[in-house]
Amino acid sequence: MLRKALLSTGRVSKSRGERLNSKEKKSELRFRFFIIQTIMIPLKHKISIISLGCARNLVDSELIIGKLKSKGFAIVEDADSADIVIINTCAFIEDAKREAIDIILKAVSLKKERRIGKLVVCGCLAQRYCEKLKKDIPEIDAILGVDDFKNISKALSSILRNEKFIAINPPGGIYSDKDPRLALTPSHYTYVKVAEGCENRCSYCAIYDIRGKLRSRPLSSIISEIKAFSGQKRRAELNIIAQDTTSYGIDRYGKFMLPKLLKKICQLKCAHWIRLLYTHPRHFTDELIDTIAGEHSICKYIDLPIQHISDKILSRMNRRINARQIETLIKKIRDRIPDVALRTSVIVGFPGETERDFNELLDFIRRTQFERLGAFIYSREEGTPAYNFKNQIAMGTKNRRLDKLMRLQQEISKGVNRHFLGKRLETLVEARSEKGIYTGRTQYDAPEVDGTVFIHSKKSLRPGQFVNVEITDTLEYDLVGKN
Ligand code: SF4
Repeated sequence: MLRKALLSTGRVSKSRGERLNSKEKKSELRFRFFIIQTIMIPLKHKISIISLGCARNLVDSELIIGKLKSKGFAIVEDADSADIVIINTCAFIEDAKREAIDIILKAVSLKKERRIGKLVVCGCLAQRYCEKLKKDIPEIDAILGVDDFKNISKALSSILRNEKFIAINPPGGIYSDKDPRLALTPSHYTYVKVAEGCENRCSYCAIYDIRGKLRSRPLSSIISEIKAFSGQKRRAELNIIAQDTTSYGIDRYGKFMLPKLLKKICQLKCAHWIRLLYTHPRHFTDELIDTIAGEHSICKYIDLPIQHISDKILSRMNRRINARQIETLIKKIRDRIPDVALRTSVIVGFPGETERDFNELLDFIRRTQFERLGAFIYSREEGTPAYNFKNQIAMGTKNRRLDKLMRLQQEISKGVNRHFLGKRLETLVEARSEKGIYTGRTQYDAPEVDGTVFIHSKKSLRPGQFVNVEITDTLEYDLVGKN
């Protein structure tokens, strides 16, 4: 029930097994069944992890189960059949917190029905609201902070002795290539977290309180990790992530090191596509633009959250960049990388946002024609400076602005997609749907958040394969084609 309920939320990503079609599932199950059987004989406890929130949290989940597997625990996909369920939570905004609580309570009801044994809650919600969780949901057996997943096996030993376990330390660490990781993504793509925490202190954001100050990983550790999981097998796609990837290195090396890091990763020839996510316009240098333009394997896709364009709102958000600088940066990027797909995210309903500010944002989006755009209503987060700002906007107004903005973006996206009609696009095959239609992504689509290419093909294609697809039809956010 929990798994189905979780999947219905659409926020928990389908596991490899759920994405595989029946044919592939059978062979996979046979393979898995064999492994689990082998592993389980000496081992008693089956662990299942539910990873919520962003890709950065997903990496933490992979480190948690990587550590447990290295300690001999059996990792199972289905929470319903697990002895211990671990929920790695998100607490960035109200919706994410509500969803995490929903899922924790579903696990609690399964625990009451003795369908699962123990419940562990970790991640951002645990870091931020440990005392409240302890008081309001006493059924939780262990609570671990964002950095405390290193204590996960100690936590499990305690709770298996029916002792509660709480570890919430101030965030200060960062994982290394020595930490075992067990992939939760399909094998053809993966995420590499190059830094933790953030120094930007945007006035609406609780990340600093949850994840702490910026901590860049040593360049050598990142390269070793990529070499390690690439091994002989060249990956299809490598996604470079952090809270703000463009700040990489400023804390450890005293200068922005992302261009150098990307060039080193390209030299490894370990992936067909290298994708950069979560940049900050304030730290987007000319050298970075040149690196993306000059390196063939770096996707011509730039994730550039601007959050707003009104100078008044940008300053109240403490984004430390103004409209003219954002416009100049975007013009530079489009001039230097003509076929680039620009993804951005914006917040509507920030305290003090007038109709005039909102229309300025709408007008900017209409003129800039972002290929990909995510919009959120402002979430009033306690502990952030904006929480106490005057002129908080009514929920009705926020929703009306969000709706208006997304209807505009829908029209823009339709227009962007129409340009691909009749063109041939290199496409990464991701899966085969029941109807025998394959699904895939182009370099202009990040995993889990952007569009899909529906591929009609008589050939037998496999996930992780790159094929050329002739685009025969276009939808609002997706493309249809043949191979
Ligand atoms: S860049 Fe701003 S919004 Fe993003 S994590 Fe850092 S403080 Fe939060």
